[in-house]
Amino acid sequence: MAGNVKVMVAPGRYVQGQGAIFEIGRHVKKLGKKALVIGGKTGLASTREGREKSFAENGISQVEELFGGECSSAEIERLSNLAREKECDVIVASGGGKAIDTAKAVAAAVNARTVIVPTIASSDAPCSAMSVIYKDDGTIERFFIPPTNPDLVLVDTEIIAKAPVRMLVAGMGDALATWLEADAACQSGARNPARGLPTSAAMALARLCFDILMEYGLQAKIANERQAVTTALEKVVEANILLSGIGFESGGVAAAHSLQDGLNMLEECHDFYHGEKIGFLALVQMVLEGRPKELIQQVYEFNYKVGLPITLADLHIDNISEERLREAVAVSCKPKAIIYNHAFPITEELVFDAILTADEMGKRIKAGQPIV
Ligand SMILES: [Zn+2]
Repeated sequence: MAGNVKVMVAPGRYVQGQGAIFEIGRHVKKLGKKALVIGGKTGLASTREGREKSFAENGISQVEELFGGECSSAEIERLSNLAREKECDVIVASGGGKAIDTAKAVAAAVNARTVIVPTIASSDAPCSAMSVIYKDDGTIERFFIPPTNPDLVLVDTEIIAKAPVRMLVAGMGDALATWLEADAACQSGARNPARGLPTSAAMALARLCFDILMEYGLQAKIANERQAVTTALEKVVEANILLSGIGFESGGVAAAHSLQDGLNMLEECHDFYHGEKIGFLALVQMVLEGRPKELIQQVYEFNYKVGLPITLADLHIDNISEERLREAVAVSCKPKAIIYNHAFPITEELVFDAILTADEMGKRIKAGQPIV
């Protein structure tokens, strides 16, 4: 493979706004005639009224099916069989991360088009191609990359505004790391998850993602607390879902997401969302890299004010033994891990020390003491 080939991937169409679900039919009409709609109880309910009305107006029929809760091979097979039996040519996810990943895999299995309607903005999964398939015991079985990204991602901000605030904040944590990781990977010449170098466009979107969070993150959280749709909420939803999605997949990934693989071993933090863990790990990455002090200060303050973790205690892993924390670091630093997508040598020792220092800096922020 040539060394300098750039690759950028994105969803075929992105639609976002208050009441956007009432327009879903005119976008889905271009993709197919019969939809299999999967999601949890809440995920299906929150889109039902707009979906039924808009599908009817546009001559699209639909079959709703309650999602089993885990993106597993068995569930993908069950839903694929259903899609074949009902002759559905569009698979719609109406819900969160696991329903979304399941829809991507089912659509690939039955050669149907993929439509993602996220009802929470808690991660950057909706716009990416990637699907994480789990075993029935909840551990990761494999990563599946369908041949294309979703054909349509439609986000109704009215629905997002009514979802729990913690979800939006977790999404901000996931989005916070996007530019930091893409920038690190770009500087090192690492390939992105789409297996190419980053385009200038992807890097610009990753940076915009970061800037929007800094400018509007807290205001968006406040709006979400009152279930209100504001300009700030719209901007942050776009950052969490679109900009972060393209930013990570076409920009690049590095230490923060690699460390999350290690943290997965520690059951003490299993109750935290992916984005909450990433929010803290973005701080660890900045310490590891020795980023400029103004940036470090800015991101610590951001996390603290929006309610993202800034210490190990915030993730319930302050009392684990040094040995277990070192084991988690070792998992993150296994050969070929994305933690090596930095332009300087990474050692387990450096990573461990960055975690301790990031934790200490978080404690000082809470105590009102200077950190830089
Ligand atoms: Zn992530």
